[in-house]
Amino acid sequence: MLVGNEAARRRRGARLLTWTTALLLSAGPGGARTTEFCLEGLFDIGVRHQGLRAGVSERTPTTWCVVTEDDGDRVVYRASGKVNPDLDDSWAVAYPAADVVRIVNRDDPPDVEFRGVEVAAAEARRVRRLDPRRLAEELESRGGVIPDLDIELDAGRIAWVTSRASFPLRGEVPVVWRWRWDDPAAPRASLTVESEVVFEASGRWRELAAEEATALWQLSGGVAPIEAPAEQWPARVAMRRIDLDAHTFLVRGVRTGFQHLVVDTEQGLVVADAPAGWVELHHLPPRDLVGGLGVSGLSEGLIDFLEAEAPGRPLRAVALTHFHDDHAGGARAFAAAGAEVLAPADAADFLDRSLDRAPAPPDRLARSGGEVSVRAVAEPLTIGERRPVTVLPMDASPHVGDQLGVWARDADIFFVSDVHVPVDEEPRPRTGRERTECWFAGWATGHLGPNTRVANSHSAVTTPVSRLREIAASPTCRGLTAAR
Ligand SMILES: [Zn+2]
Repeated sequence: MLVGNEAARRRRGARLLTWTTALLLSAGPGGARTTEFCLEGLFDIGVRHQGLRAGVSERTPTTWCVVTEDDGDRVVYRASGKVNPDLDDSWAVAYPAADVVRIVNRDDPPDVEFRGVEVAAAEARRVRRLDPRRLAEELESRGGVIPDLDIELDAGRIAWVTSRASFPLRGEVPVVWRWRWDDPAAPRASLTVESEVVFEASGRWRELAAEEATALWQLSGGVAPIEAPAEQWPARVAMRRIDLDAHTFLVRGVRTGFQHLVVDTEQGLVVADAPAGWVELHHLPPRDLVGGLGVSGLSEGLIDFLEAEAPGRPLRAVALTHFHDDHAGGARAFAAAGAEVLAPADAADFLDRSLDRAPAPPDRLARSGGEVSVRAVAEPLTIGERRPVTVLPMDASPHVGDQLGVWARDADIFFVSDVHVPVDEEPRPRTGRERTECWFAGWATGHLGPNTRVANSHSAVTTPVSRLREIAASPTCRGLTAAR
Protein backbone atom coordinates (compact mmCIF):
# COMPACT_ATOMS: atom_id res chain seq x y z
CA MET A 1 0.00 0.00 0.00
CA LEU A 2 1.26 3.49 -0.82
CA VAL A 3 1.16 6.12 1.90
CA GLY A 4 1.98 9.81 2.32
CA ASN A 5 4.63 11.42 0.19
CA GLU A 6 5.29 8.37 -1.92
CA ALA A 7 1.68 8.26 -3.12
CA ALA A 8 1.61 12.01 -3.73
CA ARG A 9 4.82 11.84 -5.75
CA ARG A 10 3.41 9.09 -7.92
CA ARG A 11 0.20 11.04 -8.50
CA ARG A 12 2.19 14.13 -9.49
CA GLY A 13 4.29 12.01 -11.79
CA ALA A 14 1.20 10.58 -13.43
CA ARG A 15 -0.33 14.02 -13.91
CA LEU A 16 2.85 15.39 -15.44
CA LEU A 17 2.97 12.48 -17.87
CA THR A 18 -0.63 13.12 -18.89
CA TRP A 19 0.02 16.80 -19.55
CA THR A 20 3.07 15.99 -21.63
CA THR A 21 1.07 13.52 -23.70
CA ALA A 22 -1.75 16.02 -24.11
CA LEU A 23 0.66 18.69 -25.34
CA LEU A 24 2.20 16.32 -27.83
CA LEU A 25 -1.21 15.29 -29.13
CA SER A 26 -2.63 18.78 -29.45
CA ALA A 27 0.51 19.77 -31.35
CA GLY A 28 -0.24 17.15 -33.99
CA PRO A 29 -0.51 18.22 -37.64
CA GLY A 30 -3.66 20.22 -38.31
CA GLY A 31 -4.93 19.65 -34.78
CA ALA A 32 -5.60 15.98 -35.53
CA ARG A 33 -8.63 14.75 -33.68
CA THR A 34 -9.88 11.45 -32.36
CA THR A 35 -13.62 11.12 -32.89
CA GLU A 36 -16.17 8.69 -31.58
CA PHE A 37 -19.30 8.03 -33.62
CA CYS A 38 -22.06 6.10 -31.89
CA LEU A 39 -25.25 4.63 -33.29
CA GLU A 40 -27.94 4.02 -30.71
CA GLY A 41 -31.15 2.30 -31.59
CA LEU A 42 -32.99 -0.98 -31.90
CA PHE A 43 -31.42 -4.03 -33.51
CA ASP A 44 -33.58 -6.96 -34.57
CA ILE A 45 -31.83 -10.13 -33.47
CA GLY A 46 -34.56 -11.98 -35.37
CA VAL A 47 -32.39 -11.34 -38.46
CA ARG A 48 -30.77 -14.58 -37.43
CA HIS A 49 -33.87 -16.60 -38.12
CA GLN A 50 -35.51 -14.74 -40.90
CA GLY A 51 -38.81 -13.84 -39.31
CA LEU A 52 -39.93 -17.34 -38.39
CA ARG A 53 -41.94 -15.77 -35.62
CA ALA A 54 -43.20 -12.87 -37.68
CA GLY A 55 -44.97 -10.34 -35.50
CA VAL A 56 -42.98 -11.26 -32.43
CA SER A 57 -40.60 -8.38 -32.01
CA GLU A 58 -37.06 -9.28 -31.13
CA ARG A 59 -35.86 -5.70 -31.41
CA THR A 60 -33.45 -4.94 -28.64
CA PRO A 61 -31.65 -1.73 -27.54
CA THR A 62 -28.24 -1.76 -29.18
CA THR A 63 -25.26 0.60 -29.40
CA TRP A 64 -22.48 0.46 -32.00
CA CYS A 65 -19.56 2.88 -31.66
CA VAL A 66 -16.50 3.44 -33.78
CA VAL A 67 -13.54 5.61 -32.79
CA THR A 68 -11.36 6.96 -35.59
CA GLU A 69 -8.49 9.39 -36.03
CA ASP A 70 -8.06 12.29 -38.45
CA ASP A 71 -4.45 11.46 -39.15
CA GLY A 72 -4.22 7.74 -38.55
CA ASP A 73 -5.74 4.37 -39.38
CA ARG A 74 -6.25 3.14 -35.83
CA VAL A 75 -9.84 2.14 -35.04
CA VAL A 76 -11.74 1.00 -31.97
CA TYR A 77 -15.14 -0.66 -32.31
CA ARG A 78 -17.39 -1.40 -29.39
CA ALA A 79 -20.94 -2.63 -29.17
CA SER A 80 -23.49 -3.48 -26.56
CA GLY A 81 -26.80 -5.23 -26.92
CA LYS A 82 -27.89 -8.83 -27.15
CA VAL A 83 -26.65 -11.68 -29.28
CA ASN A 84 -29.42 -13.95 -28.06
CA PRO A 85 -32.88 -13.23 -26.60
CA ASP A 86 -31.69 -14.32 -23.16
CA LEU A 87 -28.17 -12.89 -23.08
CA ASP A 88 -26.93 -9.30 -22.70
CA ASP A 89 -23.46 -8.68 -23.96
CA SER A 90 -20.93 -5.98 -24.74
CA TRP A 91 -17.59 -6.19 -26.47
CA ALA A 92 -14.81 -4.03 -27.87
CA VAL A 93 -12.16 -4.61 -30.50
CA ALA A 94 -9.22 -2.31 -31.20
CA TYR A 95 -7.02 -2.12 -34.28
CA PRO A 96 -3.96 -0.39 -32.75
CA ALA A 97 -1.60 -1.14 -35.67
CA ALA A 98 -1.85 -2.30 -39.28
CA ASP A 99 -1.44 -5.98 -38.37
CA VAL A 100 -2.77 -6.12 -34.82
CA VAL A 101 -6.26 -6.89 -33.52
CA ARG A 102 -6.95 -6.54 -29.81
CA ILE A 103 -10.01 -7.77 -27.93
CA VAL A 104 -10.37 -5.11 -25.25
CA ASN A 105 -11.48 -6.39 -21.84
CA ARG A 106 -11.68 -3.16 -19.82
CA ASP A 107 -13.82 -4.72 -17.08
CA ASP A 108 -11.98 -8.01 -17.01
CA PRO A 109 -8.29 -7.66 -17.99
CA PRO A 110 -6.11 -8.80 -19.61
CA ASP A 111 -6.84 -8.02 -23.26
CA VAL A 112 -6.30 -10.62 -25.97
CA GLU A 113 -4.02 -9.59 -28.80
CA PHE A 114 -3.55 -11.13 -32.24
CA ARG A 115 -0.35 -9.96 -33.95
CA GLY A 116 0.67 -10.40 -37.56
CA VAL A 117 -2.96 -10.45 -38.74
CA GLU A 118 -2.78 -9.78 -42.47
CA VAL A 119 -6.42 -8.75 -42.75
CA ALA A 120 -6.34 -6.34 -39.80
CA ALA A 121 -5.84 -3.15 -41.83
CA ALA A 122 -8.58 -4.00 -44.33
CA GLU A 123 -10.91 -4.95 -41.50
CA ALA A 124 -10.22 -1.70 -39.64
CA ARG A 125 -11.06 0.20 -42.81
CA ARG A 126 -14.39 -1.64 -43.20
CA VAL A 127 -15.29 -0.83 -39.59
CA ARG A 128 -14.16 2.82 -39.96
CA ARG A 129 -16.82 3.26 -42.68
CA LEU A 130 -19.53 2.88 -40.04
CA ASP A 131 -18.92 6.60 -39.45
CA PRO A 132 -20.58 8.20 -42.51
CA ARG A 133 -18.25 11.23 -42.43
CA ARG A 134 -15.23 8.94 -42.60
CA LEU A 135 -16.87 7.04 -45.44
CA ALA A 136 -17.49 10.29 -47.34
CA GLU A 137 -13.84 11.32 -46.84
CA GLU A 138 -12.61 7.96 -48.11
CA LEU A 139 -14.93 8.08 -51.11
CA GLU A 140 -13.57 11.48 -52.09
CA SER A 141 -9.95 10.45 -51.60
CA ARG A 142 -10.49 7.39 -53.80
CA GLY A 143 -12.05 9.32 -56.65
CA GLY A 144 -15.62 8.24 -55.94
CA VAL A 145 -15.20 4.47 -56.08
CA ILE A 146 -14.92 1.94 -53.23
CA PRO A 147 -14.91 -1.72 -54.30
CA ASP A 148 -18.03 -3.75 -53.40
CA LEU A 149 -19.90 -0.69 -52.13
CA ASP A 150 -22.47 1.15 -54.22
CA ILE A 151 -22.70 4.62 -52.68
CA GLU A 152 -25.13 7.45 -53.39
CA LEU A 153 -24.54 10.94 -52.04
CA ASP A 154 -27.09 13.63 -51.29
CA ALA A 155 -25.67 17.17 -51.06
CA GLY A 156 -22.23 15.73 -50.36
CA ARG A 157 -23.44 13.44 -47.58
CA ILE A 158 -23.76 9.66 -47.62
CA ALA A 159 -27.38 8.77 -48.42
CA TRP A 160 -27.33 5.12 -49.52
CA VAL A 161 -24.69 2.39 -49.20
CA THR A 162 -25.53 -0.90 -50.91
CA SER A 163 -23.60 -4.17 -50.82
CA ARG A 164 -24.36 -7.90 -50.92
CA ALA A 165 -23.61 -10.71 -48.50
CA SER A 166 -24.38 -14.41 -48.00
CA PHE A 167 -26.22 -15.31 -44.80
CA PRO A 168 -26.99 -18.75 -43.42
CA LEU A 169 -30.71 -19.59 -43.79
CA ARG A 170 -31.09 -16.69 -46.20
CA GLY A 171 -28.74 -16.92 -49.17
CA GLU A 172 -27.02 -14.03 -50.92
CA VAL A 173 -29.01 -10.83 -50.41
CA PRO A 174 -28.59 -7.03 -50.51
CA VAL A 175 -27.43 -5.18 -47.40
CA VAL A 176 -28.40 -1.50 -47.49
CA TRP A 177 -27.58 1.44 -45.22
CA ARG A 178 -29.93 4.43 -45.58
CA TRP A 179 -28.80 7.72 -43.98
CA ARG A 180 -31.12 10.67 -43.28
CA TRP A 181 -29.65 14.07 -42.40
CA ASP A 182 -32.58 16.17 -41.14
CA ASP A 183 -30.34 16.95 -38.19
CA PRO A 184 -26.78 17.06 -39.57
CA ALA A 185 -25.34 16.53 -36.09
CA ALA A 186 -27.49 13.47 -35.46
CA PRO A 187 -28.13 11.54 -38.68
CA ARG A 188 -30.59 8.66 -38.66
CA ALA A 189 -29.59 5.30 -40.07
CA SER A 190 -31.56 2.27 -41.09
CA LEU A 191 -29.83 -0.97 -42.03
CA THR A 192 -31.78 -3.37 -44.22
CA VAL A 193 -30.90 -6.99 -44.92
CA GLU A 194 -32.84 -8.21 -47.94
CA SER A 195 -36.16 -6.46 -47.26
CA GLU A 196 -36.09 -6.39 -43.47
CA VAL A 197 -34.98 -3.39 -41.43
CA VAL A 198 -32.66 -4.92 -38.85
CA PHE A 199 -31.19 -1.81 -37.21
CA GLU A 200 -32.70 1.64 -36.81
CA ALA A 201 -30.52 4.08 -34.98
CA SER A 202 -29.54 7.66 -34.41
CA GLY A 203 -25.90 8.73 -34.69
CA ARG A 204 -23.83 11.18 -32.64
CA TRP A 205 -20.25 12.37 -32.85
CA ARG A 206 -18.06 13.20 -29.90
CA GLU A 207 -14.53 14.50 -30.00
CA LEU A 208 -12.36 12.77 -27.44
CA ALA A 209 -10.19 14.82 -25.09
CA ALA A 210 -6.49 14.07 -25.44
CA GLU A 211 -6.38 12.08 -22.23
CA GLU A 212 -9.29 9.86 -23.22
CA ALA A 213 -7.86 9.39 -26.71
CA THR A 214 -4.52 8.28 -25.27
CA ALA A 215 -6.17 5.88 -22.85
CA LEU A 216 -7.91 4.14 -25.76
CA TRP A 217 -4.69 2.48 -26.85
CA GLN A 218 -3.49 1.46 -23.43
CA LEU A 219 -3.82 -2.13 -22.35
CA SER A 220 -6.65 -2.94 -19.94
CA GLY A 221 -5.54 -2.98 -16.33
CA GLY A 222 -2.06 -1.91 -17.48
CA VAL A 223 -1.13 -5.57 -17.85
CA ALA A 224 0.36 -7.50 -20.75
CA PRO A 225 -2.23 -8.99 -23.10
CA ILE A 226 -2.76 -12.67 -23.75
CA GLU A 227 -1.09 -13.23 -27.10
CA ALA A 228 -3.00 -15.35 -29.59
CA PRO A 229 -1.75 -16.67 -32.95
CA ALA A 230 -2.74 -14.50 -35.91
CA GLU A 231 -4.58 -17.32 -37.67
CA GLN A 232 -7.00 -17.57 -34.76
CA TRP A 233 -8.52 -14.19 -35.63
CA PRO A 234 -11.47 -13.76 -36.10
CA ALA A 235 -12.33 -17.35 -35.30
CA ARG A 236 -10.20 -20.35 -34.66
CA VAL A 237 -10.84 -23.58 -36.55
CA ALA A 238 -8.78 -26.28 -34.85
CA MET A 239 -10.81 -29.47 -34.60
CA ARG A 240 -9.91 -32.24 -32.21
CA ARG A 241 -11.70 -35.33 -31.04
CA ILE A 242 -12.60 -35.85 -27.38
CA ASP A 243 -13.62 -39.49 -26.82
CA LEU A 244 -16.46 -40.10 -24.36
CA ASP A 245 -16.64 -43.86 -24.97
CA ALA A 246 -15.78 -46.25 -27.81
CA HIS A 247 -18.59 -44.94 -30.03
CA THR A 248 -19.25 -41.44 -28.76
CA PHE A 249 -17.11 -38.34 -29.03
CA LEU A 250 -17.12 -34.57 -29.12
CA VAL A 251 -15.47 -32.57 -31.88
CA ARG A 252 -14.08 -29.51 -30.14
CA GLY A 253 -12.80 -26.35 -31.86
CA VAL A 254 -15.10 -26.52 -34.90
CA ARG A 255 -14.74 -22.81 -34.47
CA THR A 256 -13.92 -20.74 -31.41
CA GLY A 257 -16.41 -21.77 -28.73
CA PHE A 258 -18.18 -24.50 -30.70
CA GLN A 259 -18.18 -28.25 -30.11
CA HIS A 260 -20.42 -30.98 -31.49
CA LEU A 261 -21.50 -34.42 -30.28
CA VAL A 262 -21.02 -37.40 -32.61
CA VAL A 263 -22.41 -40.91 -32.01
CA ASP A 264 -21.24 -43.79 -34.21
CA THR A 265 -24.41 -45.92 -34.39
CA GLU A 266 -24.48 -49.11 -36.44
CA GLN A 267 -26.48 -47.14 -39.03
CA GLY A 268 -23.78 -44.50 -39.29
CA LEU A 269 -22.74 -41.26 -37.61
CA VAL A 270 -25.32 -39.05 -35.92
CA VAL A 271 -24.09 -35.48 -35.40
CA ALA A 272 -25.59 -32.74 -33.22
CA ASP A 273 -25.84 -29.36 -34.96
CA ALA A 274 -24.55 -27.95 -38.24
CA PRO A 275 -22.29 -24.92 -37.71
CA ALA A 276 -22.44 -22.04 -40.19
CA GLY A 277 -20.44 -19.04 -41.25
CA TRP A 278 -21.69 -15.57 -40.46
CA VAL A 279 -20.96 -12.05 -41.61
CA GLU A 280 -20.35 -8.98 -39.47
CA LEU A 281 -22.92 -6.29 -40.26
CA HIS A 282 -20.85 -3.45 -38.78
CA HIS A 283 -18.35 -4.01 -41.59
CA LEU A 284 -18.94 -2.10 -44.84
CA PRO A 285 -19.13 -4.27 -46.88
CA PRO A 286 -20.07 -7.18 -44.56
CA ARG A 287 -17.49 -9.95 -44.48
CA ASP A 288 -17.23 -13.59 -43.37
CA LEU A 289 -16.70 -14.16 -39.68
CA VAL A 290 -14.41 -17.02 -40.62
CA GLY A 291 -12.74 -15.57 -43.64
CA GLY A 292 -13.33 -17.40 -46.89
CA LEU A 293 -15.42 -20.28 -45.54
CA GLY A 294 -18.77 -18.79 -46.50
CA VAL A 295 -22.05 -20.18 -45.19
CA SER A 296 -21.39 -23.93 -45.48
CA GLY A 297 -17.59 -24.14 -45.18
CA LEU A 298 -17.48 -24.79 -41.43
CA SER A 299 -19.86 -27.75 -41.67
CA GLU A 300 -18.06 -29.06 -44.76
CA GLY A 301 -14.83 -28.93 -42.75
CA LEU A 302 -16.48 -30.78 -39.87
CA ILE A 303 -17.63 -33.49 -42.30
CA ASP A 304 -14.10 -33.82 -43.74
CA PHE A 305 -12.78 -34.16 -40.19
CA LEU A 306 -15.33 -36.93 -39.47
CA GLU A 307 -14.35 -38.79 -42.64
CA ALA A 308 -10.74 -38.76 -41.47
CA GLU A 309 -11.65 -39.78 -37.90
CA ALA A 310 -14.19 -42.46 -38.82
CA PRO A 311 -13.14 -43.65 -42.29
CA GLY A 312 -15.86 -45.36 -44.29
CA ARG A 313 -18.63 -44.61 -41.80
CA PRO A 314 -21.69 -43.10 -43.48
CA LEU A 315 -23.28 -39.91 -42.15
CA ARG A 316 -26.66 -41.13 -40.92
CA ALA A 317 -28.15 -37.85 -39.66
CA VAL A 318 -27.56 -34.37 -38.34
CA ALA A 319 -29.91 -33.27 -35.55
CA LEU A 320 -30.39 -29.49 -35.54
CA THR A 321 -30.99 -28.60 -31.90
CA HIS A 322 -32.74 -25.34 -32.81
CA PHE A 323 -33.15 -23.00 -35.74
CA HIS A 324 -30.62 -20.29 -34.80
CA ASP A 325 -28.29 -19.85 -37.75
CA ASP A 326 -25.10 -20.79 -35.88
CA HIS A 327 -26.56 -24.22 -35.10
CA ALA A 328 -28.69 -24.93 -38.18
CA GLY A 329 -27.17 -22.81 -40.95
CA GLY A 330 -24.61 -25.40 -42.08
CA ALA A 331 -27.16 -28.17 -42.74
CA ARG A 332 -26.66 -27.90 -46.51
CA ALA A 333 -23.24 -29.52 -46.06
CA PHE A 334 -24.79 -32.52 -44.30
CA ALA A 335 -27.48 -32.88 -46.96
CA ALA A 336 -24.73 -32.87 -49.61
CA ALA A 337 -23.02 -35.71 -47.69
CA GLY A 338 -26.21 -37.80 -47.68
CA ALA A 339 -27.25 -37.26 -44.06
CA GLU A 340 -30.87 -36.97 -43.00
CA VAL A 341 -31.57 -33.49 -41.58
CA LEU A 342 -33.62 -33.61 -38.36
CA ALA A 343 -35.14 -30.49 -36.79
CA PRO A 344 -37.57 -29.39 -34.06
CA ALA A 345 -41.15 -29.76 -35.29
CA ASP A 346 -42.12 -26.08 -35.20
CA ALA A 347 -38.97 -25.03 -37.07
CA ALA A 348 -38.91 -27.77 -39.72
CA ASP A 349 -40.94 -25.95 -42.39
CA PHE A 350 -38.96 -22.77 -41.89
CA LEU A 351 -35.64 -24.60 -42.16
CA ASP A 352 -36.81 -26.63 -45.15
CA ARG A 353 -37.60 -23.39 -47.02
CA SER A 354 -34.63 -21.39 -45.76
CA LEU A 355 -31.88 -23.90 -46.45
CA ASP A 356 -32.85 -24.12 -50.13
CA ARG A 357 -33.40 -20.43 -50.83
CA ALA A 358 -32.05 -19.03 -54.07
CA PRO A 359 -29.51 -17.80 -54.79
CA ALA A 360 -27.94 -20.54 -52.70
CA PRO A 361 -24.41 -20.13 -51.38
CA PRO A 362 -21.75 -21.61 -53.70
CA ASP A 363 -21.21 -24.80 -51.68
CA ARG A 364 -21.03 -28.58 -52.22
CA LEU A 365 -24.81 -28.95 -52.27
CA ALA A 366 -25.16 -26.26 -54.93
CA ARG A 367 -22.44 -27.92 -57.03
CA SER A 368 -24.17 -31.30 -56.78
CA GLY A 369 -27.55 -29.80 -57.65
CA GLY A 370 -29.07 -31.33 -54.51
CA GLU A 371 -31.67 -30.04 -52.08
CA VAL A 372 -32.25 -30.13 -48.35
CA SER A 373 -35.23 -32.07 -47.07
CA VAL A 374 -35.88 -31.48 -43.37
CA ARG A 375 -37.61 -34.08 -41.20
CA ALA A 376 -39.61 -32.77 -38.23
CA VAL A 377 -38.99 -34.54 -34.93
CA ALA A 378 -42.16 -34.21 -32.83
CA GLU A 379 -41.72 -37.42 -30.78
CA PRO A 380 -38.56 -39.00 -29.36
CA LEU A 381 -36.68 -40.60 -32.26
CA THR A 382 -34.18 -43.39 -31.59
CA ILE A 383 -31.58 -44.28 -34.22
CA GLY A 384 -29.64 -47.54 -33.93
CA GLU A 385 -30.22 -50.53 -31.66
CA ARG A 386 -26.87 -51.70 -30.32
CA ARG A 387 -25.55 -48.20 -29.58
CA PRO A 388 -28.64 -46.07 -29.87
CA VAL A 389 -28.98 -42.33 -29.90
CA THR A 390 -32.28 -40.65 -29.05
CA VAL A 391 -33.21 -37.29 -30.54
CA LEU A 392 -35.48 -35.82 -27.90
CA PRO A 393 -37.91 -32.89 -28.33
CA MET A 394 -37.69 -30.54 -25.35
CA ASP A 395 -40.17 -27.91 -24.20
CA ALA A 396 -40.04 -24.20 -25.01
CA SER A 397 -37.24 -22.41 -23.13
CA PRO A 398 -36.40 -18.73 -22.65
CA HIS A 399 -33.81 -19.20 -25.42
CA VAL A 400 -35.98 -20.62 -28.17
CA GLY A 401 -39.49 -21.95 -28.75
CA ASP A 402 -38.79 -25.52 -29.81
CA GLN A 403 -35.59 -27.48 -29.50
CA LEU A 404 -34.03 -30.93 -29.59
CA GLY A 405 -31.55 -32.65 -27.29
CA VAL A 406 -29.33 -35.49 -28.51
CA TRP A 407 -28.93 -38.37 -26.06
CA ALA A 408 -26.13 -40.92 -26.56
CA ARG A 409 -27.69 -43.74 -24.54
CA ASP A 410 -24.64 -46.00 -24.04
CA ALA A 411 -22.37 -43.17 -22.92
CA ASP A 412 -25.39 -41.59 -21.16
CA ILE A 413 -24.38 -38.17 -22.48
CA PHE A 414 -27.12 -35.67 -23.27
CA PHE A 415 -26.12 -32.84 -25.64
CA VAL A 416 -27.89 -29.47 -25.63
CA SER A 417 -27.18 -26.13 -27.27
CA ASP A 418 -27.48 -22.69 -25.70
CA VAL A 419 -29.83 -23.60 -22.82
CA HIS A 420 -26.92 -24.77 -20.66
CA VAL A 421 -23.52 -23.09 -21.00
CA PRO A 422 -21.76 -23.40 -17.62
CA VAL A 423 -18.48 -21.59 -17.05
CA ASP A 424 -17.56 -23.61 -13.95
CA GLU A 425 -18.68 -26.54 -11.83
CA GLU A 426 -20.48 -24.52 -9.16
CA PRO A 427 -23.99 -25.64 -8.18
CA ARG A 428 -25.63 -22.34 -9.14
CA PRO A 429 -26.83 -20.86 -12.43
CA ARG A 430 -24.38 -18.86 -14.51
CA THR A 431 -24.61 -15.13 -13.85
CA GLY A 432 -26.44 -13.24 -16.58
CA ARG A 433 -28.17 -16.36 -17.92
CA GLU A 434 -30.17 -17.30 -14.83
CA ARG A 435 -33.57 -17.58 -16.49
CA THR A 436 -32.40 -20.02 -19.14
CA GLU A 437 -30.03 -22.00 -16.89
CA CYS A 438 -32.71 -22.43 -14.20
CA TRP A 439 -35.23 -23.49 -16.82
CA PHE A 440 -32.86 -26.16 -18.11
CA ALA A 441 -31.85 -27.38 -14.64
CA GLY A 442 -35.54 -27.95 -13.87
CA TRP A 443 -36.19 -29.65 -17.20
CA ALA A 444 -33.15 -31.94 -16.90
CA THR A 445 -34.07 -32.96 -13.36
CA GLY A 446 -37.47 -34.11 -14.61
CA HIS A 447 -36.46 -35.74 -17.91
CA LEU A 448 -32.93 -37.20 -17.73
CA GLY A 449 -31.54 -40.17 -15.84
CA PRO A 450 -29.84 -39.75 -12.46
CA ASN A 451 -26.45 -40.68 -13.95
CA THR A 452 -26.76 -38.74 -17.20
CA ARG A 453 -24.11 -36.12 -17.91
CA VAL A 454 -24.91 -33.06 -19.99
CA ALA A 455 -22.53 -31.77 -22.65
CA ASN A 456 -23.17 -28.49 -24.43
CA SER A 457 -22.14 -26.73 -27.60
CA HIS A 458 -20.28 -23.75 -26.15
CA SER A 459 -18.36 -24.80 -23.04
CA ALA A 460 -16.07 -27.70 -22.17
CA VAL A 461 -17.78 -28.28 -18.81
CA THR A 462 -19.84 -31.48 -18.62
CA THR A 463 -22.54 -31.34 -15.96
CA PRO A 464 -23.93 -34.38 -14.10
CA VAL A 465 -27.69 -34.34 -13.56
CA SER A 466 -26.99 -34.43 -9.81
CA ARG A 467 -25.49 -30.93 -10.10
CA LEU A 468 -28.38 -29.73 -12.25
CA ARG A 469 -30.67 -30.85 -9.44
CA GLU A 470 -28.63 -28.69 -7.04
CA ILE A 471 -28.81 -25.76 -9.47
CA ALA A 472 -32.60 -26.14 -9.74
CA ALA A 473 -32.78 -26.09 -5.93
CA SER A 474 -30.50 -23.04 -5.58
CA PRO A 475 -32.04 -19.88 -4.08
CA THR A 476 -31.70 -18.07 -7.43
CA CYS A 477 -33.63 -20.72 -9.35
CA ARG A 478 -36.21 -21.21 -6.61
CA GLY A 479 -36.78 -17.44 -6.61
CA LEU A 480 -37.31 -17.41 -10.38
CA THR A 481 -39.69 -20.37 -10.23
CA ALA A 482 -41.70 -18.69 -7.48
CA ALA A 483 -41.88 -15.47 -9.51
CA ARG A 484 -43.33 -17.27 -12.56
ZN1 LIG B 1 -29.30 -20.32 -30.02
